[in-house]
Amino acid sequence: MAKQTNLHCSFCGRSRDEVKILIAGQESHICENCVEHAQEIIGQELVGTEEQNTSTQNFKLTVRKPTEIKKFLDEYVIGQDEAKKILAVAVYNHFKRIINKVEKDEVEIEKSNIIMVGETGTGKTLLAKSIARMLNVPFAIVDATVFTEAGYVGEDVESMLTRLLQNCNYDVVAAERGIVYVDELDKIARKGDNPSITRDVSGEGVQQGLLKMLEGTEVLVPPQGGRKHPDQKMIKVDTKNILFICGGAFDGIDKVIARRMNTNAIGFNVNKAEQEMQRKNLLQFINAQDLKGFGLIPELLGRLPVVTYLNPLDAETLRNILTEPKNSLIKQFTKLFQLEGIALTIEEEVLNFMVEKALEYKLGARGLRSICESILTDAMFELPGTGETELLVTLDYAENMFSKSKMSLLKVA
Ligand code: ADP
Repeated sequence: MAKQTNLHCSFCGRSRDEVKILIAGQESHICENCVEHAQEIIGQELVGTEEQNTSTQNFKLTVRKPTEIKKFLDEYVIGQDEAKKILAVAVYNHFKRIINKVEKDEVEIEKSNIIMVGETGTGKTLLAKSIARMLNVPFAIVDATVFTEAGYVGEDVESMLTRLLQNCNYDVVAAERGIVYVDELDKIARKGDNPSITRDVSGEGVQQGLLKMLEGTEVLVPPQGGRKHPDQKMIKVDTKNILFICGGAFDGIDKVIARRMNTNAIGFNVNKAEQEMQRKNLLQFINAQDLKGFGLIPELLGRLPVVTYLNPLDAETLRNILTEPKNSLIKQFTKLFQLEGIALTIEEEVLNFMVEKALEYKLGARGLRSICESILTDAMFELPGTGETELLVTLDYAENMFSKSKMSLLKVA
């Protein structure tokens, strides 16, 4: 009996009382913490080896023609035709380039990394995500604002590849032709014109780091993300065939575009109404020069040759977003009620009311979900188990529910 109390983990030395489980071997013991730790080490050691690489079969590349890509995107994303077309061509060319291995002396096709400019909530992430889903390639969304130049508080740029690796279970071969969506690219714009006075570690410093990745090099990636440290085993990832899609709102870029167009005197010798219309649609004229004016370094822009824009969402688009996409919000809520045996009918006026509120509260498409929830949560709470088989949502009901919800307390900006 006395012997039992002396038991301890042979790896970390913790005693029986300090651990939950102690597994006995022939002459030693191991605790649950050490088992977990050992599992991690095995995972890291196997990365990049053949055992891992065989799983690439899970990511069999399905390349489609640009028109098919656009058609696929139409099922999930409403409007944004121009962006869809440009993306479809860029993605098609990118994968054509990967599949047709270039012979020596042949023309080498450059990678077509993409920048999408558009207000938040207009569908940039959704577009990138839908493309990855269609192509069946690993996909990661990263936020540019978390990165800083090496040596400063924050994350190394390389850790964006950690996320990509994690999303495909460390299948390096698959990751090497994946897609990374870098959000908030505008937030790493150079601050001010003279970067030498104070070091711009989260702006230009990150752009330089990103540049290296976009150029296509072998990058050493920390398997668990965060900062690199000397005794961590790194995974080598070649970024040559990884497609980078960057997005950002670039608030105020319209002024940069306007300035350029004014000096170039294109289309501004027109009447006031025309001018107003052009101001609203200025984004369609965006080019790399404007992004440089906004604070992106020319070298980085050189590696992001495809620039496209997303339109702000108007009432009609928001209305369509509610019902049209394959997994639209209304379809999702209808399914949820259907699973309870309840047929949900939402009157046309209610849909218009939802759109009105999304516009009024300046919540864009993201707000539509919260508005739907504020109207339907009570019913989702009360109806299950009552034997009710139908729910008709009228305008009165919707207005009433919405006014009772916390959302209605939000201040209209
Ligand atoms: P962004 O990346 O531009 O900030 P997101 O792509 O994350 O915006 O969009 C937020 C949410 O709004 C998406 O999950 C989607 O439900 C909806 N949404 C936005 N734009 C569209 C669109 N054009 N078509 C369909 N849904 C959209």
